[in-house]
Amino acid sequence: MAQGTLFIVSAPSGAGKTSLVRELIESLDGIQVSVSHTTRARRDGEVDGVNYHFVDVPAFEAMVEQGDFFEYARVFDNYYGTSRSAVQAMLVAGQDVILEIDWQGARQVRAQLPEAVSVFILPPSREELERRLSGRGTDEHAVIARRMRDAVDEMTHHDEYDYLVINDDFTTALRELQSLVISRRLTLERVSEHHASLLAALMA
Ligand code: GDP
Ligand code: ADP
Ligand code: 5GP
Repeated sequence: MAQGTLFIVSAPSGAGKTSLVRELIESLDGIQVSVSHTTRARRDGEVDGVNYHFVDVPAFEAMVEQGDFFEYARVFDNYYGTSRSAVQAMLVAGQDVILEIDWQGARQVRAQLPEAVSVFILPPSREELERRLSGRGTDEHAVIARRMRDAVDEMTHHDEYDYLVINDDFTTALRELQSLVISRRLTLERVSEHHASLLAALMA
């Protein structure tokens, strides 16, 4: 059975992870982003089932109890988690899957699936990160201050990742992410699986 690649993408809040991942999946076929469950309040413009599955704490805890999560973590006082069945279904269907998760979740995924490919996105400077966080205009002042403090903590984990992308110029960072996804489709294993009959015919 053909299997897609699982990509883990992490970044401090405001680095541009969501914008980059959105463009990435629009620009390539065969790749999807996993929609997480969260207990955080919905932001203006966010749609339930599209950006996140928004649930309350008891519902989230029930899912934890039932072992529904591939990984989950507490980030900024909220719970976030990735549904095991949804990710499995996409991978088995041969889709590449992106998880936009924090470093704690990344560790849990690597422990269960060592072949997952992880990417950390860095901002070009602290000042620019702050500008993007406030410029997004979706969070309260106190929330922005909290996220800025936590950003440094998140960034200290960059060295646990396979790849680093600096999101200075958006188009450049997007091209780097595209290259990464494409290169993983050209491994001996993936091509041999996908083109088994071609290889057999060529070698006959
Ligand atoms: P944004 O990154 O600033 O847009 O803020 P979000 O509220 O979307 O995400 C907050 C944090 O939760 C980020 O560090 C995400 O990587 C993390 N996160 C989101 N979804 C998940 C998930 O399913 N699992 C885990 N472990 N972390 C998640
Ligand atoms: P994250 O998901 O990492 O929290 P977002 O994708 O929401 O980040 O991006 C945060 C803000 O920064 C958004 O307003 C987005 O439009 C902006 N942004 C993202 N990448 C860049 C870039 N390369 N240059 C300038 N602004 C950017
Ligand atoms: P936001 O609340 O701004 O949408 O996301 C904040 C952080 O939560 C981001 O850094 C994001 O990567 C992380 N996050 C979102 N979904 C998940 C998830 O399912 N699991 C984990 N571990 N982190 C997540």
